Amino acid sequence: MSNIIWFRSDLRIYDNPALAAALEQGATVGVYCLNEEQWQQHDVAPAKQSLIVRQLKDLGRSLEALNVPLKVLHTRRYAAVPEALAEQAKALNCKRVFVNEEYEWNEQGCTHKVERSLAQADIALRRYHDQCAIAPGDVRTQQGDMYKVFTAFKREYLRQFDSKARALASSPSKQEPLDLPADLSALNAVAQDTRYDELWPAGEDEAHERLNQFIESRVKAYKDKRDFPDESATSQLSPYLAIGALTTRQCLQAAMSVNEGQLQSGRKGVDTWISELIWRDFYRHLLFAYPDLCRHRPFKAETDALPWQGEGERFQAWCEGRTGYPLVDAAMRQLRETAWMHNRLRMVVAMFLTKHLFVDWRLGERFFMQHLVDGDLASNNGGWQWSASTGVDAAPYFRIFNPVRQSERFDPDGAFIRQYLPELKALSNKDIHWPSAQQREQCDYPEPLVDHSQAVAQTKQWFKELSEQGEPA
Ligand code: FAD
Repeated sequence: MSNIIWFRSDLRIYDNPALAAALEQGATVGVYCLNEEQWQQHDVAPAKQSLIVRQLKDLGRSLEALNVPLKVLHTRRYAAVPEALAEQAKALNCKRVFVNEEYEWNEQGCTHKVERSLAQADIALRRYHDQCAIAPGDVRTQQGDMYKVFTAFKREYLRQFDSKARALASSPSKQEPLDLPADLSALNAVAQDTRYDELWPAGEDEAHERLNQFIESRVKAYKDKRDFPDESATSQLSPYLAIGALTTRQCLQAAMSVNEGQLQSGRKGVDTWISELIWRDFYRHLLFAYPDLCRHRPFKAETDALPWQGEGERFQAWCEGRTGYPLVDAAMRQLRETAWMHNRLRMVVAMFLTKHLFVDWRLGERFFMQHLVDGDLASNNGGWQWSASTGVDAAPYFRIFNPVRQSERFDPDGAFIRQYLPELKALSNKDIHWPSAQQREQCDYPEPLVDHSQAVAQTKQWFKELSEQGEPA
């Protein structure tokens, strides 16, 4: 034996740089370290845990077809990974471990410790960029800094794409059979929550089928329809990207194939979708440049002085979808029922929690991670800090979504609200966005938790005072 491929958030065989390199350089065995205690610490949602476990089983089958046995080590926490990997490598007489980079603080720490532990046994760790089409750190201003404004980042990203984007990794080829059995039995240690399994089937084939369907039938209308939560107009690929069943690079390639081979060709739907994928890379580049983001510090440090509220009745009402604002409540119930939420609604509920209820954005960020099948530290933190006006290129603090106007605009006939708030089903298309006191009583639907105008005026005042104290919020 000569190589280990150490899988993390890259649970696939295609376009996997570390796997491709390992197979090119000799006999390879796959290893995954199961860290379910770390999952608890990182608030990995049960739906995402289940998707990972099922994806690992699918990966095990795909690797078997390549004669690569997959072994799942039950390490429980990152702290145990360096020693376990070194022991495994020694036992298998491996000289090289191949891994794709992860950019979060704890994950980078784990990589460094593994590297040191392997080095003591004279084993090399080979690291590959994988998660972004262009590696973090490679898109910088002329002064060498990270861009803080998305449009400028995107302009430079597009300019550099041809020279800096990672090429798709070569397809893996079958190796000679090894006299070593696969072992996935450690996966039994994860208490499986199967509620969302049908909604989010695992598998690399499944991810590609969803990508192809989206590219063939929906991407062209993406720009016009993506903001309407009842339309199913977005790709719903985020869970597959989050666990690495699919790569950004594969998505970009698929989009370019219907865009005259270009990233931006003037086809509005495709161009807009590509921009969203670049947002994903942007947030990863930011996390890499500003590791404090991993520790849930606001990008604009001064915003920590704002009088954010903690957990309490308001936060509970938001979590449970009983704020009395129909679109907010329907969105929160979508999250609970499907482990996913439409992007427009993520912005609406995040702004509502932070700008109407003035609850600390970190509580919302955490609640999202605990429930989202696509929970992803970089994008989630980016989305929350955008909504709370604490982040880079964030929504200006005075531009606050009115949840009722958002509802009228993006769910005009109330179809989305009716799906998740059946108690309001009988209301007219007009009333469903803002039922009267009498209708609320009849439908057993709560009174609004706060008054929109008052809440928004108070929030603006707090932010204004903060900016008057010196640094602009
Ligand atoms: P599409 O519209 O089909 O977009 C394609 C892909 O582009 C997505 O799968 C995603 O990987 C990426 N993308 C799209 N929009 C964004 C964006 N605004 N920021 C970063 N990447 C984007 N996304 C996550 O993957 N995980 C999260 O935990 C997460 N938390 C969020 C929290 C908040 C408060 C907000 C406002 C946004 C969050 N997002 C998160 C971003 C976005 O809402 C989701 O990526 C998107 O809704 C996923 O649906 P889709 O796959 O159909 O996206």
